Amino acid sequence: MILQRFKTIADAHPATQKMPVLFIGHGSPMNGIEENQYVSAWRALGETLPRPQVILCISAHWLTEGTWVHIGEKPKTIHDFWGFPEELYQLTYPCPGAPAYAAAVRNGVRSTEVWLDTDWGVDHGTWIVMRRLFPNADIPVFQMSIDISKPSEFHYAVGREVASLRERGVLIVGSGNLVHNLGRIAYEPGAKPYDWAVEFDARIRELLLGGDIASLIAYERLGHAATLAVPTPDHYWPLLYALAGRAKDECITFPVEGITHGSISMRAVCIGM
Ligand code: ZN
Repeated sequence: MILQRFKTIADAHPATQKMPVLFIGHGSPMNGIEENQYVSAWRALGETLPRPQVILCISAHWLTEGTWVHIGEKPKTIHDFWGFPEELYQLTYPCPGAPAYAAAVRNGVRSTEVWLDTDWGVDHGTWIVMRRLFPNADIPVFQMSIDISKPSEFHYAVGREVASLRERGVLIVGSGNLVHNLGRIAYEPGAKPYDWAVEFDARIRELLLGGDIASLIAYERLGHAATLAVPTPDHYWPLLYALAGRAKDECITFPVEGITHGSISMRAVCIGM
């Protein structure tokens, strides 16, 4: 039984090249089909990354009670959006799953129970990005959910516990948006970013570069801009999973920057490369 073969994260795979960690601002599902500066930057990033053996994605779109990992061998492509062009619903990302790694996460995380899921797959927070980073869909991908009942500290702590997967060839990817206010979206082309969106995005960049983890976890204390930029934490929390993978003094770069639709930051964060 494959799920019992790997008892811990360290057993899942022998040590190999340490992988970087990513946070990607995924934006609109339209990034699955549109050509724009952001998807071009994702494609360019994919060409510079070392090839992972497995990808673990923590997406803003898998919110659960409790923490779950998907163990399917062939994760289905989930079209979890409504009212978009038919072309988008026809897209699939037929990557293999990584059940042994998912089981290793279940067994290796101590701060909370991690449950095994067979129903999820890859949601659009994962696949619209993966299609550009790794268009061949030949690298196994598994998702871990975000427990919406838990505070920010919890998400950082779980991220710390899976960080050692980096040394086992696993690319950990948090997928959300640092600024994500759908209620304030501006639909006109070339809409100017809101001042508070620019302010919060820049503040997070500064805190990341300064290594101020406490402030990044307690983002609500960053004032009025934070209230508007993060009206709900779902798209911010994936950053904490990525940040938790950072070893002390590891380099941080921003392979994608920009604010779209006035209130969506497309900033990507790359740690350790
Ligand atoms: Zn989203």
